[in-house]
Amino acid sequence: MIVVPLGKDYELQDCPIARALELVGERWTILVIRDCFLGVRRFNDFLAHLDIPRAVLTNRLDRLVIEGMLKRREYCPGRNEYLLTKRGLSLWPILHSLAEWGDQEAAPRAGRRRLFAHVECGTDLDAAGACPACGIVPDAGDVEIRPGPGAELALRDDQVTRALLRPHRILEPLEITPARSTRSGHVRSFRRSAQATEQRLPSM
Ligand SMILES: [Zn+2]
Repeated sequence: MIVVPLGKDYELQDCPIARALELVGERWTILVIRDCFLGVRRFNDFLAHLDIPRAVLTNRLDRLVIEGMLKRREYCPGRNEYLLTKRGLSLWPILHSLAEWGDQEAAPRAGRRRLFAHVECGTDLDAAGACPACGIVPDAGDVEIRPGPGAELALRDDQVTRALLRPHRILEPLEITPARSTRSGHVRSFRRSAQATEQRLPSM
């Protein structure tokens, strides 16, 4: 069987959505950007949270740097972290809308994994990313993320997932404690989650 690799662009699609997808539409890219908003900055933390091959992660990070959406910063000799640039930060409304859409159209039965609130007043953002109390659309850095009712049923048990169980301001680096999980840890977590789901959800 001959496998023809898919191209990365939409050469004959003269359309802004196609052009946007050429920048962020490759598999994993939008999840790398999501993690940057959540406060992930270092290669091994992306790796632990995303379970993708190192080469793929390297490719996605390099591409985002080349396209000016991430910048590298050396945090100790020979080691870099990745930060969103102004161009990358401009993706926040899209990320929030995508999360809202996912919750409405593909919501887990256990409820929302993550909730977003305006830091200034603590009010939950509406579906458009605005604060109903203040009448403004806060920048990503003025938004707090906290676990929703579905968070504790997460299938994962890596250091980033655990750090995300604490409310924190978006873009601030996560307080990540050293990894303790193994593949079997993930499986245990999954089983625990499945049992919890059975206990909590009404029968259909
Ligand atoms: Zn507010």
